[in-house]
Amino acid sequence: MIVMKFGGTSVKDVEAVGRVVQVVGRERRPRLVVVSALSGVTDALLEAARLAEQGDGAAARQAVKALHRRHEEMTVLVRATERRASLLAAIDALFAELEGIVRALAVVEEVSPRSKDAIVAFGELASCRIVAAALEDAGLASRWLDARALLVTDAQHGAALPDRKATDERLRSLVRPLLADGLVPVVGGFVGATPARLTTTLGRGGSDFSAALFGAGLAADEIQIWTDVDGMLTADPRVVAAPRVVPQLSFDEASELAYFGAKVLHPATILPAVGLGIPVRILNSQRPEAPGTLITRTVEGGDGDGGPAAIACKRGLIRIDIASTRMLMAYGFLRRVFEVFERFRTSVDVVTTSEVSVSVTIDDRRSLEGIVAELRAFADVSHEDGMAIVCAVGERLRTDSRLATRVLSALEGLPLAMVSQGGSRKNITVVLRDADAPAAMERLHRRFFEDEGAPSERAALATA
Ligand code: ASP
Ligand code: MG
Repeated sequence: MIVMKFGGTSVKDVEAVGRVVQVVGRERRPRLVVVSALSGVTDALLEAARLAEQGDGAAARQAVKALHRRHEEMTVLVRATERRASLLAAIDALFAELEGIVRALAVVEEVSPRSKDAIVAFGELASCRIVAAALEDAGLASRWLDARALLVTDAQHGAALPDRKATDERLRSLVRPLLADGLVPVVGGFVGATPARLTTTLGRGGSDFSAALFGAGLAADEIQIWTDVDGMLTADPRVVAAPRVVPQLSFDEASELAYFGAKVLHPATILPAVGLGIPVRILNSQRPEAPGTLITRTVEGGDGDGGPAAIACKRGLIRIDIASTRMLMAYGFLRRVFEVFERFRTSVDVVTTSEVSVSVTIDDRRSLEGIVAELRAFADVSHEDGMAIVCAVGERLRTDSRLATRVLSALEGLPLAMVSQGGSRKNITVVLRDADAPAAMERLHRRFFEDEGAPSERAALATA
């Protein structure tokens, strides 16, 4: 069986859901469909929660009413009058319930994380009803499922952690029989519930995570993430003029890229699938014929002059140089340094060390002053704003010892502040001035993905 997950843009309106119906209809394998809220709905629900918290009950109810209307309009998808009426009734009931919640919270002017989850879950609770009804209407026997009955989590509202074992049991008892009967179950992503049945959510973008959890629990043959782009790109299109689709990535490569803001895929998504080696395929619901990007546990490095799988950058960073005030790096120095970052809950992106100093980059500048003050108790500290990370990612960096040199030589002439080859040796990272980042990215992209003479065969495949 496979899991087909459709993101918010893939279900954003009547036409989009029509495409989902076609894509799901063409598939022959048993399938579980996971859907996000219609695009923009989660934000709108959070806004309604904010208005309620401010005590502006009228505005909060107005926001709910607008959402209600938008979902009602989706029911034109369903032609059979009886089915459409029952979808409308389900949507009316959901939004009546939501309005009641929002009204009550506006009175007390308080929205706890628990209440916020109760509100924000409505996006997925409504979208799965719509998609299930549309599938039925197209002659595909389907069944909507309440995600709160399926995904068991702890009680960390807004960022709940799944209970994999309990969830797997629910999948076995609730989803497997439907699949065995040839039905297409449709469930909202992002949403779960505690064993005590309190509604929870997994965190923004959590539908991918739901899809991966369900895929893992059902031992799926493949997890498809249907979105509005052709797949993972060789570089960020805002930085590089002509990025290409990467046809295949390893899980590690995809995680690195996701970390660098390749928004197509949430890194945590990957984890439940990685363990079981389930391939994840990113596909474009607006161009279902495009091959997309396949993410697998491992990927062949290949021979020849291949380059990295993709390049990435992260901009607007601060570099902090920390030198031990003793002549040599004393025992325990690094521990003291990182304890400071830990105390200020500031994560560090790149770290390089020499015998007497350590440099790090951070992007969260909120605690910069406090961090520097504490470091100065035992080290000389200087910092520089306006830095960027540029990173080449590829399994091949591990197997081809010359590749790192080729990456660096493409950057010749640009002043590099830090150079690091990660522990996995699947990336090589440089830190340079933010102003130089676009030029660095363009050069790398031209060198490895556009040059006539030495195209990466994986990039070449992408354009074939
Ligand atoms: N609807 C949720 C969000 O916008 C979850 C998701 O779409 O993945 O964050
Ligand atoms: Mg998403």
